[in-house]
Amino acid sequence: MAESIAPPTVSPVSVKVTPLPLRAVLPWAVFVGTLMLVLLYFVGAEQGATSVFSGEGVHEWVHDGRHLLGFPCH
Ligand SMILES: [Zn+2]
Repeated sequence: MAESIAPPTVSPVSVKVTPLPLRAVLPWAVFVGTLMLVLLYFVGAEQGATSVFSGEGVHEWVHDGRHLLGFPCH
């Protein structure tokens, strides 16, 4: 005769969620947003007359991202 195996009982766990204050998040949001804008510049506009660095080095490093995001290239 087969014995039935009862599923293990799990007692409920109470989790207290503490909201993050805006003053703690805002500097990091500004920092990450600035980094994203710099990255977007290098991916999207670092070429030709608007380039910060001479040569094609930066453009070649971000070339695949440029095509992935749909920026005009070649
Ligand atoms: Zn290209």
